[in-house]
Amino acid sequence: MSTPLPTASIITIGDELLIGQTIDTNSAFIAQALNQVGIWVRRRVAVGDQYRDIQEALNQESVSSDLILITGGLGPTSDDITKPLLCDYFGGKLIRNQSVLEHIEHLFTQVYRRPGPLLERNIKQADVPDNCEVLPNAIGTAPGMLFRKDGKIFISLPGVPAEMKKLITDEVIPRIVKECATASIQHRTLLTAGAGESILAEALTNFESALPKNLKLAYLPKYGMVKLRLTYIGESELTGKALLDEQFLILSETIQQWRIAEEDIGLEVLIGNWLKEQNKTMGTAESCTGGSIAQLMTSVPGSSAYFIGSVVSYANRIKVEMLGVKEETLQTVGAVSEKAVREMIEGGLKRMGTDYMVSVSGILGPGGATPEKPVGTVWIAAGTKDKIITRQLNLRFDRSRNTTITTHQCLLLLWELLKTNEG
Ligand code: AMP
Ligand code: MG
Repeated sequence: MSTPLPTASIITIGDELLIGQTIDTNSAFIAQALNQVGIWVRRRVAVGDQYRDIQEALNQESVSSDLILITGGLGPTSDDITKPLLCDYFGGKLIRNQSVLEHIEHLFTQVYRRPGPLLERNIKQADVPDNCEVLPNAIGTAPGMLFRKDGKIFISLPGVPAEMKKLITDEVIPRIVKECATASIQHRTLLTAGAGESILAEALTNFESALPKNLKLAYLPKYGMVKLRLTYIGESELTGKALLDEQFLILSETIQQWRIAEEDIGLEVLIGNWLKEQNKTMGTAESCTGGSIAQLMTSVPGSSAYFIGSVVSYANRIKVEMLGVKEETLQTVGAVSEKAVREMIEGGLKRMGTDYMVSVSGILGPGGATPEKPVGTVWIAAGTKDKIITRQLNLRFDRSRNTTITTHQCLLLLWELLKTNEG
């Protein structure tokens, strides 16, 4: 008989998380670190700096989880109440920990080099409940604390992301791996484009109903694409791998008409790898995206091997002078037109001397609309000297989201062109 696998809850503490001032990145990091060693995170909870709320979260999470990770509320100011609360909760007494005190003194004198004596509130950071195991915080003043109660483990960590991360990596994960019978959690992801999640779900009805019970399929739509993630949670690394190999193959074949990549990879990396392999180059001629396609492509280290440059032709004058777009085109059909993006491709290829070019011109909003061209009207193109493909987008979001989607749609169009030129 196998024992049930341990699960975790993450409780993040701080009013700033509830009012939306700070985005809770701590629990994402912790969840990933736990997943890697086979601990399933059952729940993530954010609470304010309120005694009752923190207490209630501890009570609730310890019912269902074996491991409870807590971040925040360990600072030296009065709004940070986690430590006295944990002391009460586990029935301990605060005592001064000499090695933590020495570490705090070292930080203030040698690292921060703060003049004057240590403040009482900083000294108090060396006080810890006498019934916890202290987890040393190498880069900050507040130590981590590990408590045990009724077979469950509670770990409290500072909220400062860098300190929390170091404690998780150096102190928490090694202890968990040693103590817990961890599961195998494996993910495999496939990238699709050209079909929404409902269409994909229709195509995958039979696949999903025949999935073994320890595999789960998730749909993750983003930027007009959909990622499909298959996850195995179980006891055996080998069984998991075999099951995933088998089912991933079926999944990939079932949706092959929309498949772009069989891994969790960004378009900028996918395209970059392809260009590098084929020894080809690209550039961009961007109007409404203001260079964001170039920005995304050059976010990849080593992109100088294939990315040549970009003309951000925001004004019509630049479209004409730098890219050779015809005045007549601008006057007759306008800058947001198929003809204009074609000319931007032709001019861009000539000026930059690249093998491939991407171009875009559109109205991303909120202003700039005309009766024939409402906000969200965007023309995109990808081309070589022999072939240009174009597409019209009709977007309906705010400026920022419209820009992100347009950027990705341009790269998708380029990907389409690259695939037709393969071989
Ligand atoms: P604390 O330990 O509560 O004093 O938090 C110290 C700092 O870490 C504050 O500036 C918080 O905004 C930041 N912080 C706390 N919790 C989180 C979290 N869950 N994600 C990201 N940052 C956080
Ligand atoms: Mg706080």
